[in-house]
Amino acid sequence: MQRSCDICGKREATRAERAVENNMQTEYAYCEACYAFALKSGRLPREMARERLAKRGKECPQCGCTLEKFKQSYMLGCPDCYRNMRDAIAVCVRPTVYMPRPVDDPAPEWMGNYVVSSRVRFARNVEGVPFPGSSRDADRRIADIVKGACAATQGVFEAQLHTMTSLSDLKKKMLIERHVISLGLANSDMGAVILEKTEPSELSVMLNEEDHIREQCTVAGFGLRRAYDRLKSYDTALARQLNIARDAQFGYLTACPSNVGTGMRASVMLFLPALKRTGMIDKAISAMRERYGLTVRGYYGEGSDAAYDMYQLSNSTTFGIDDGNILRLVEQSAVEMVGLEREALVMLLGSKKTEIIDKIFRSYGVLGSAYSISSAELMEKLVDVKLGVILGVLPIKDVASLNELIWACASSLEILNGDVGEEEHNIARARLVRKHIAEEK
Ligand SMILES: [Zn+2]
Ligand SMILES: [Zn+2]
Repeated sequence: MQRSCDICGKREATRAERAVENNMQTEYAYCEACYAFALKSGRLPREMARERLAKRGKECPQCGCTLEKFKQSYMLGCPDCYRNMRDAIAVCVRPTVYMPRPVDDPAPEWMGNYVVSSRVRFARNVEGVPFPGSSRDADRRIADIVKGACAATQGVFEAQLHTMTSLSDLKKKMLIERHVISLGLANSDMGAVILEKTEPSELSVMLNEEDHIREQCTVAGFGLRRAYDRLKSYDTALARQLNIARDAQFGYLTACPSNVGTGMRASVMLFLPALKRTGMIDKAISAMRERYGLTVRGYYGEGSDAAYDMYQLSNSTTFGIDDGNILRLVEQSAVEMVGLEREALVMLLGSKKTEIIDKIFRSYGVLGSAYSISSAELMEKLVDVKLGVILGVLPIKDVASLNELIWACASSLEILNGDVGEEEHNIARARLVRKHIAEEK
């Protein structure tokens, strides 16, 4: 085997130099380019070689990221960092200890009342291109990634590309609220998003966020498998367009090693009003964390502060577990969490039945007759009404139609936007809600 250059560690060495160091005979080897570069910068080639050899395994010559930098930020500079600092990174990335039960139990039919939406996300990067956070320069290769990600939508979904600089602040805010884009992406001039044009819009792709590509699919109700299958068809098309960074040991390579492996996050948005009201939510959240290593977040806010009694349950480990087991883990724990919710509901009714049912009917009355309603009030009243549907005391078929109502309000008001003020918005919203409630009867 040919010896490689001691300075760049890559090219074949064509020059050799002997030196005696600490009474030891040492031989250095250089490629022509490194040898010339050392002399041009006024250094001795063997000095430079000694420095580089000492750093090897602790820095990435491809992007300049060092082990020290990585330990401070827990972020890497490019896919090759994993190969150039393999041993040091392997120590930090441990395979998960959480595994689901091997069997797929059928989901109880009531799950649809508690699962607002299901989502699957993949983080992907392209070989040889620095991660978005580590390189400030608008790179030609970034444009190629955007092109490839758009080309991959062909035959999978009808898509439209929006750069962050082209979107209005209102539109960005709406996309953030729906968890389609992140605040980080909204604030990045280099960022872009691909949105599914046809309604309901389920697929979306964030470009140049923390990773080059963050693809996700969100479906209504308890449908992780369907979300996964739709996303996988895009992911397969993507791998045909771009050279996606993968490694035999680490799997999919990501900017932050907390996503390495599958690069996958599966999550469900749960409606848990009784756990919240009985004050049992925090205990349930820690149980999910300890038993399954899952992360539970409020829709906005944490734990008992969660808005609209909605909580997002997702896997927090992506390494040492495959896609199928991540889906199973999140599904099984969602069923368990809803089981706890139903126990809490029985307790709650035991102590406050009249109070709760009265509040349900009052809120239902407001939705059916308000002339003007803010989005905050709508969401607040909907919590009671959804609880009423679960208890079977209201003439509404299922919770799914109420979840749709939230998005219907948001998208039709979006069309109104522009010069129309808050007051008109609230009147239009109330009209939509009244119509919806009347149709359900
Ligand atoms: Zn060299
Ligand atoms: Zn690197």
